[in-house]
Amino acid sequence: MTHVVQHPDTQTLQALDNAHYLHPFSDHKTLREKGARMIVRAQGVYIWDSDGNRILDGMAGLWCTNIGYGEKRLADAAHRQMLELPYYNSFFQCAHPPVVELAKEIAELAPDHMNQVFFTGSGSESNDTVLRMVRHYWTLKGQPEKFTIIGRHNGYHGSTVAGASLGGMKAMHKQGGLPIPGIHHIPQPYWFGEGGDLTPEEFGVKAAQELEKAILEIGEDKVAAFIAEPVQGAGGVVIPPSTYWPEINRILAKYDILMIADEVICGFGRTGEWFGSQTFDIKPDFMPIAKGMTSGYIPMGGVIVSDRIANAFEEKGGDFNHGYTYSGHPVAAAVALENLKVMKEKNLVQYVKEDIGPYLQSQWQTLAEHPLVGEARGVGLVAAIELIQDKATRQRFDEEVGIGGICRDISVENGLVMRACGDTMIISPPLVITRAEVDELIHKAKLALDLTQQVLT
Ligand code: PLP
Repeated sequence: MTHVVQHPDTQTLQALDNAHYLHPFSDHKTLREKGARMIVRAQGVYIWDSDGNRILDGMAGLWCTNIGYGEKRLADAAHRQMLELPYYNSFFQCAHPPVVELAKEIAELAPDHMNQVFFTGSGSESNDTVLRMVRHYWTLKGQPEKFTIIGRHNGYHGSTVAGASLGGMKAMHKQGGLPIPGIHHIPQPYWFGEGGDLTPEEFGVKAAQELEKAILEIGEDKVAAFIAEPVQGAGGVVIPPSTYWPEINRILAKYDILMIADEVICGFGRTGEWFGSQTFDIKPDFMPIAKGMTSGYIPMGGVIVSDRIANAFEEKGGDFNHGYTYSGHPVAAAVALENLKVMKEKNLVQYVKEDIGPYLQSQWQTLAEHPLVGEARGVGLVAAIELIQDKATRQRFDEEVGIGGICRDISVENGLVMRACGDTMIISPPLVITRAEVDELIHKAKLALDLTQQVLT
């Protein structure tokens, strides 16, 4: 692809950035000293910076460009819809063709008992919506005291006040006096980091039973819902042991607690099914979605709800006093529809499940042989490695070393975007990645590990 937009040079862009742009999730002091890397274009699984470096995007942006970059059909869909109906809302008993068609498409992909979708502008807004829906549901049912939502330490559910509160990121809670009242966190099912001497299976049951303990402490009549990602993404690609989700299902059913499966990362093929809940046999009442729904080409999120919830809203009547100007935006909906069409035509979900997912995972496992790596794990097209000082004891490096950050920077310098969550390196590449590109990814990940090791000696 040729350049379609001309930009000023890197220095000029960085000067503008430093003068005027406040970045999300950034240390502005370091950023201003170093200058931001300017990404100017992208195609397939690759991004290019303003100095002409080509980098394999092992993170699909922020876990979102599922169909890869440069898919012209999505641009055409946006263009057509902008000319036809660039904006209208769904407030006050209105709707429009793209939003109802998209709701139908998503309902067909979701588990059978989930048939209605509320649309938002992002994953964070989806989780704000979930919090409102959960509490509204129990109020409609005459049990408003069922109010507390249980989340997990190190879970990530977005950056708005409700999203960050539902999430269990300590660094986020510190800023802004979070979490808000009525939210409780339990430990995560992170065997490598917290499993001690237990087998993964034993630890999976133990971690799930933390939920039952919390329900009994708070009181089952006061607990409204449990929220969790099928695979905890930003927390370091934490894949629960096989015993975890069955035990969680049992506990939720026993105490009549609603299940919120945050599918913002796992949704739309990442784990080899349309939704992570299908991969792990979770029984959700709500599935917040975003990211892969439009492959990140345009902002859009949503919440898929079960018939139990939708029926209560309809039967009991009364306004649900919640919505966004851009809920079900027609251009975003048209792009999402085209994105799903592309995914289906390319059989991308099947490709992840049967072909490229198993191939990536088999190659990724070879990284476990590296002296710096304590564990390599993954499912579908999402994976992690744990950087450790001592393989036998799983002993970590001192925090001051900042080994994850070192490895991430080296990796990007050498042509691969890997992300660091503490000392856990993670990848989540576009679903269209080919075997040759997986080989390149693995080669570059090994190189980053070797160079990181050299820095240490
Ligand atoms: N939920 C999960 C599981 C996420 O990973 C994210 C973002 O990374 C969000 C919610 C928030 O989505 P957004 O950044 O679109 O608000």
